[in-house]
Amino acid sequence: MPRLRRCRACKRTKPMTAFLRNAAHKDARDVWCRDCRRAYARRWRAANRAACRARQKAYYRENRARLRAYNRAYQRRRRKLIRTGKWQGRSASAAARARTRAAPPRRATGTGG
Ligand SMILES: [Zn+2]
Repeated sequence: MPRLRRCRACKRTKPMTAFLRNAAHKDARDVWCRDCRRAYARRWRAANRAACRARQKAYYRENRARLRAYNRAYQRRRRKLIRTGKWQGRSASAAARARTRAAPPRRATGTGG
């Protein structure tokens, strides 16, 4: 398996790890890099707010019990960390996501937004 791949959207050559797994492709990797997929998804959500909301609502309805149980456990963990002074604020991954949102990757197509 080649170690590098050229993204069909941004035309940049990136390591295979920059491409999401996608079982529909014969080598099980996407032909668009993560950055391009993320930018595309963001544009799609912006252009399809209503559909996106409806989908999220349906997902919540169908997984309500599990999501509520998860959130209860998370808040219990969080309160305990706050009590013991170990709360770091948002998790490292959430902080990384926030940084990515603040400075989105350059993209080859689209008008930004
Ligand atoms: Zn790309």
